[in-house]
Amino acid sequence: MSLVVAKFGGTSVADYGAMNRCAEIVLGNPDCRLVVVSASSGVTNLLVELTQESINDDGRLQRLKQIAQIQYAILDKLGRPNDVAAALDKLLSRMAVLSEALVSARSKATMDELLSLGEQCSSALFAAVLREKGANSSAFDVRRVLRTDSHFGRAEPQVEQIALLSREHLLPLLSEQVIVTQGFIGADEAGQTTTLGRGGSDYSAALLAEALTASAVEIWTDVAGIYTTDPRLAPNAHPIAEISFNEAAEMATFGAKVLHPATILPAVRQQIQVFVGSSKEPEKGGTWIRHQVEDAPVFRAVALRRDQTLLNLHSLQMLHAQGFLAETFATLARHKISVDLITTSEVNVSLTLDKTGSDSSGQGLLSEALLQELSQHCRVRVEDGLALVAIIGNRIATTAGICRRVFEVLEPHNVRMICQGASPHNLCVLVAESEAAQVVKALHENLFEGA
Ligand code: ADP
Ligand code: ASP
Ligand code: MG
Repeated sequence: MSLVVAKFGGTSVADYGAMNRCAEIVLGNPDCRLVVVSASSGVTNLLVELTQESINDDGRLQRLKQIAQIQYAILDKLGRPNDVAAALDKLLSRMAVLSEALVSARSKATMDELLSLGEQCSSALFAAVLREKGANSSAFDVRRVLRTDSHFGRAEPQVEQIALLSREHLLPLLSEQVIVTQGFIGADEAGQTTTLGRGGSDYSAALLAEALTASAVEIWTDVAGIYTTDPRLAPNAHPIAEISFNEAAEMATFGAKVLHPATILPAVRQQIQVFVGSSKEPEKGGTWIRHQVEDAPVFRAVALRRDQTLLNLHSLQMLHAQGFLAETFATLARHKISVDLITTSEVNVSLTLDKTGSDSSGQGLLSEALLQELSQHCRVRVEDGLALVAIIGNRIATTAGICRRVFEVLEPHNVRMICQGASPHNLCVLVAESEAAQVVKALHENLFEGA
């Protein structure tokens, strides 16, 4: 059996009409037997607000009401089938219980269980939409197979366990039914609910595809593929027909929100092709991410990652000494922080923190404890208000004239940090957040909109 895993993002399952369009896509491809859904658009954001310490009772009730409205509107259009209505009622009352529990005890495990309820609602509803169209379909609790560690908020998937569990519990169902399951969520060994970090449904789809050795993963979203830059930033951005795993991984890592940064890893491990397209306009086609591609241009795309933190570490210990970087990185590793960009001088190290794995509930990565630990062996300065702009392409480190072209465009802007040379696929600059959109637009115009 050739298997395609289709993932539908928040806007694709936002309401009954959107779910119907997605159901047509699924039923139009007999190989599409496993569907992974995000929470309906806006629901995870509301759930995150429910986890915030500052929320009061009125705010809490208002959020719960908003979520119920989104989900019941879909249920109503389905004609309120009893089983789905009962499942939804149960999930929504659990939401109320958990959000209240957080008022007295702020537990990360409770937060993750609360955040997981959006995907649980949308998967129950989407399976019902498929059944309404005559398909044999049911919702499947992904926590039975998507095993993670217990790092609530950004749990690490356990790939071997996921493969074993998926083959045992999920695979046998796929020959009979179209199974709808949840993205973004998992469970640890003790059965406690975990989440993979914001945008994690793409990653879930790729992990399940890997576990079941699927032939393709389809990421259905609100844009017709991966564009040369975020089409919201540059109206002339255009979709890329085919892109390599390496380039797509760099794009996702450096902020192209269309794909969660980790999505590519399972696909690369199993050489599974990934397709990105629009569930609103499937006829427009989209982007195929493959191992081998025909065209490998020097400039492929520009990505933007906002809200960057720069850590400046100063220590005279670095002067003609060894071990300072090792000590610094060991401290960061203990706090589960991965470093993104790095530049060094004789007595300074500047680095940006990789926020791609940041917490589902939006908590910052820089804790007081980490800063204190670092301060024990160096002077620490933290700079915020920065954005990372990455130019993605091929042979960037070995083609003459690239920096000249890029820096000509950047002339009116202060470049706080530059990274180039480690990868043939990118050149990154750190600029002020306030100028970032302008920088992306100007780079796109110059590098991609020329005659
Ligand atoms: P979903 O809810 O379907 O997962 P997301 O909002 O996470 O969708 O991702 C889709 C969005 O990603 C698009 O609406 C677009 O604004 C943004 N985006 C950022 N960079 C790119 C890019 N290079 N190509 C396409 N979309 C991009
Ligand atoms: N619903 C989650 C989020 O909004 C996961 C996802 O959509 O990928 O982050
Ligand atoms: Mg997404």
